Amino acid sequence: VENDDKGQQTACHECDLLITLPHLEVGSKAVCPRCGYILTKRYKNSLNRILAFSVTSIVFLVVSSLFPFLSFSSKGQDRTVTLLQSIDVLVHEGQLVLAIMILVAIIVIPAIFLFGLLYILAPLKHSGTVLPYAKNVLRFILALTPWSMVEIFLIGMMVSLVKVSSLADVAFGLSFWAYILFTLFMTLVLLHVDKIQLWQWMEKHVHS
Ligand SMILES: [Zn+2]
Repeated sequence: VENDDKGQQTACHECDLLITLPHLEVGSKAVCPRCGYILTKRYKNSLNRILAFSVTSIVFLVVSSLFPFLSFSSKGQDRTVTLLQSIDVLVHEGQLVLAIMILVAIIVIPAIFLFGLLYILAPLKHSGTVLPYAKNVLRFILALTPWSMVEIFLIGMMVSLVKVSSLADVAFGLSFWAYILFTLFMTLVLLHVDKIQLWQWMEKHVHS
């Protein structure tokens, strides 16, 4: 048996039922017969979409760290901060450990995830090749996904801004909007990333 995804076994993420996956057409999904959990989905053009959304996310993430993020003005005093400085401002002065944790969750982990995806998928798309350690990279970035807290940061930041805005006038800089767009595209990447399909793409090319 060498060709497609026929006959692959997987355990349901929710109820542990062992299921033999059928071959899936684009636009279809496999649902657990016992609990209804969606096991895997086939989006149209998903390899191209993941690549395009990942590159776009990286561009916006880079832009968001280069320009002013927020400006505060209070009692005639102005202060402009970058994304990195804003973490510290919003966390409170002096809370270094918390600031580093947020930094890791909102920039470092998403960046590793996106570059890892490109490392695996760009060669697959371009020439059908699997780069060295691609399987380890895939295992690693899939383990990272629960630790990406991009949306949580955005919500937390909004809450903090509401509080800060009662003390000072807040203006959004270019980097702020870039980070919003990054969040949007990162969400699209995560929406299209399907664990089972990623492994299938890789297996298919390793054996052929
Ligand atoms: Zn189930």
